[in-house]
Amino acid sequence: MKATCWFDKHDVRVERVPDPEIRNPRDAIVKITSTAICGSDLHLYNGFIPTMQAGDILGHEFMGHVVEVGEGVTKISAGDRVVVAFPIACGGCFFCKRETYSLCENSNPNAPMAAKLWGHSPAGIFGYSHLLGGYPGGQAEYARVPYADVGTIKVPEDMTDEQVLFLSDILPTGYMAAEQGNIQPGDVVAVWGAGPVGQFAIVSAYLLGAERVIAIDRFPSRLRLARERAGADTINYEETDVHEALREATGGRGPDVAIDAVGMEAHAPALVHAYDRVKQALMLESDRPYALRQALLAVRNGGTVSVAGVYGGLIDKFPMGTIVNRALTVRSGQTHVQRYMQPLLERIRRREIDPTFIITHRLPLDQAPAGYRMFLQKEDDCEKVVLKP
Ligand code: NAD
Ligand code: ZN
Ligand code: ZN
Repeated sequence: MKATCWFDKHDVRVERVPDPEIRNPRDAIVKITSTAICGSDLHLYNGFIPTMQAGDILGHEFMGHVVEVGEGVTKISAGDRVVVAFPIACGGCFFCKRETYSLCENSNPNAPMAAKLWGHSPAGIFGYSHLLGGYPGGQAEYARVPYADVGTIKVPEDMTDEQVLFLSDILPTGYMAAEQGNIQPGDVVAVWGAGPVGQFAIVSAYLLGAERVIAIDRFPSRLRLARERAGADTINYEETDVHEALREATGGRGPDVAIDAVGMEAHAPALVHAYDRVKQALMLESDRPYALRQALLAVRNGGTVSVAGVYGGLIDKFPMGTIVNRALTVRSGQTHVQRYMQPLLERIRRREIDPTFIITHRLPLDQAPAGYRMFLQKEDDCEKVVLKP
């Protein structure tokens, strides 16, 4: 089959690789009809996630038709159309029973490696380094899906791929980011990053009762999308002082909830950016936390900072003092996708959410390398790339 393989920093190629096979009774093989490139893939593309190996198959947002199931699979069968959740979860362990699927303690065969870095290991993830299991990903023609009964949701034939594809990751991610903000009716929510995750965080914040959402980014096309399709007010951080603008919008107090939908490669217009870039390059800090720092300082006293952006390791100049002295709550996590797929599918059916508005580019799988370049540079107003195998 054809698959998108990582070779090195900024070197991704579509190669011929062996077809996946059932290896475990709870596996299914899915023939992929649609897949997408995630902001998390850019952290791999830019070389910031350790333990990638040349030839690793990328991709963790995918859907398609089941072509084969192992004998232990009971809920889906060949011919079913399914969306696959990006975290791999067994469904039966301590964490899965609590619906915290991205913490599954049975799905990462390289758990000791992850525990060395983070103290304990989280779940395995498709196409996301050997640290997180070394599972071949879904930017390919086929994928093997472990624990297939837990990690898939069947989708009705009358819904299009584009309507349901993002149930695999970024729609639940934006939703969980808003949910973890514990938004109360009337709240003002600020969202850093108007990428796909930020757009869905905005939409979700309104669904959960926010009165006003303010999106922060620097790309005019992304800010326009946040205004016109997601209903946010916007701040271009290259033109406006974010802290001041947020104070002004909230009577001096600051937003009730701050959502980081940027992650470890934040960009900053100021000197501090050079500082973080140098430290990141010298491996003195692994992540650039500019947006996160700003969110922590801007949120109101007693507010919540919900971190959907991915961080890999260590950050520097983390303002712990503001958390303690202003009684902030910080929440985060890789998304517990399996918990949100069914309720969000129903919201799409009821037309409370139309996730298709973020798609700007549709490419054949063969053009995945161009898709990565375009999504990284935000060329041609790129917001989200869908690949068709
Ligand atoms: P993206 O790269 O398309 O979007 C990131 C946006 O942040 C860009 O528009 C960029 O201009 C903006 N940005 C950069 N620096 C900024 C700053 N200082 N202030 C404000 N905005 C800034 O990526 P995406 O697909 O939207 O993903 C966003 C983040 O969410 C990534 O870190 C990704 O890894 C993470 N993610 C997490 C999960 C999860 O399970 N927690 C799932 C999916 C994605
Ligand atoms: Zn993702
Ligand atoms: Zn589990």
